[in-house]
Amino acid sequence: MKQDRFHGRTQGTGRLCEAPGCNEPGEFRAPGERAPGFDGPGAYRWFCLDHVRAFNQGYDFFRGMTPEEIARAQSPLSGWAGETRAFRPTAGIDQTPRWADFPDPLDAIAARAKLRREDVRKAQDAMRRGLSVADRQAYDALGLDFEADRRSLRARYSELVRRYHPDRNGGDRTHEARLREVVEAYQHLRRLAAFA
Ligand SMILES: [Zn+2]
Repeated sequence: MKQDRFHGRTQGTGRLCEAPGCNEPGEFRAPGERAPGFDGPGAYRWFCLDHVRAFNQGYDFFRGMTPEEIARAQSPLSGWAGETRAFRPTAGIDQTPRWADFPDPLDAIAARAKLRREDVRKAQDAMRRGLSVADRQAYDALGLDFEADRRSLRARYSELVRRYHPDRNGGDRTHEARLREVVEAYQHLRRLAAFA
């Protein structure tokens, strides 16, 4: 068996480094959100050597990102247009997709890198504007960009309330959860300085 000069290196898994925007192989394991224990073997993050070193020094690559973006960044399939039978969230944690399972590996890898760069750019933009993750989720819930002003906030809010209200849907309550999300997001956003 080939000895590696770095302790803990795992090669040939097909994983990419989870540091957002990095496309090096993810060959080094770091603790993830969930510790090993009663619920199973624990979640791990996989990084390249540079990024696992940075991670071990306490650098948080996921600062300012929403939970959805973190989940996307951590998925071995992040950026792939769709899931294949080879890899679904329910598959074993240490299972890895084989490149041969994908019809267009090069296009898919490019799409994956682009998606992460967009998440990172958006998170950085939000931090520059002093927005919290909760603020960002409220913007997302209403489908508003960070340039939105008070007028567009109110316009979007009333549009969505009309769209999801049971009275406008013949009493159909299927949109209730979405309506509640819209109302909460509006209540959250209207208190921000950007909408004063
Ligand atoms: Zn990396």
